[in-house]
Amino acid sequence: MRLLIMGPPGAGKGTQAVLIQKHFDIPHVSTGDLFREAVKNNSPLGVSVRKYIEHGELVPDDITIQVVIDRLKHDDCKNGFLFDGFPRTIPQAVALDSILSNLNITLDAVINVVVSNQKLMERIAGRRVCKVCNAGYHVVTNKPKVEGVCDKCGGELYQRKDDTAETVQNRLKVYNDQTKPLLDYYDKRNIIKNVNGLGEIQDTFKEVLASLGVKQ
Ligand code: AMP
Repeated sequence: MRLLIMGPPGAGKGTQAVLIQKHFDIPHVSTGDLFREAVKNNSPLGVSVRKYIEHGELVPDDITIQVVIDRLKHDDCKNGFLFDGFPRTIPQAVALDSILSNLNITLDAVINVVVSNQKLMERIAGRRVCKVCNAGYHVVTNKPKVEGVCDKCGGELYQRKDDTAETVQNRLKVYNDQTKPLLDYYDKRNIIKNVNGLGEIQDTFKEVLASLGVKQ
């Protein structure tokens, strides 16, 4: 399966992505995670992208596309992948088409997680992430067994710097201006699968599987 997952910040893309990754045994390639890892390690990439991430701005297309090209070279992407947070602009989508066409492969589907703006703000305010393994939690809807501690690896949970109210507003604006137009781009190919991101995590996942024709 070669999939993209789209939706505004806070729609629950990352949570669904982990379930999809397990189900299809494909790597979950999140450009946001790749950038955050680079920032944490203070690598040259991290130094160049930090300011964009902290302000909720998009990292320039050329940097982002190169990160994706490098990631796609890894062996684990040979039998499929799930991109989360990429592409986010029309030039990125055009670049992805050309990368995939050079590899003689095409996308199977674009999963679009639909959630209202009001819900997004609530979701993002309560979001927590593991410092060590990146697992995602929510203080109300997806609590860890012990507050502040990751169930999976025992790592410390934290709130992303770009999950503050002001930055979130900017990220939503950037989403509406630059990323939403991609829905039309992919709709023309009839590969968009809209799923309702408002319900329980497992209900949304069932919708994802059904939209991909998986019998349950
Ligand atoms: P995310 O975890 O997907 O919400 O991404 C966090 C931040 O990383 C975004 O607000 C951007 O600053 C940056 N980022 C992630 N993916 C991309 C992308 N495809 N293009 C540009 N910037 C990105």
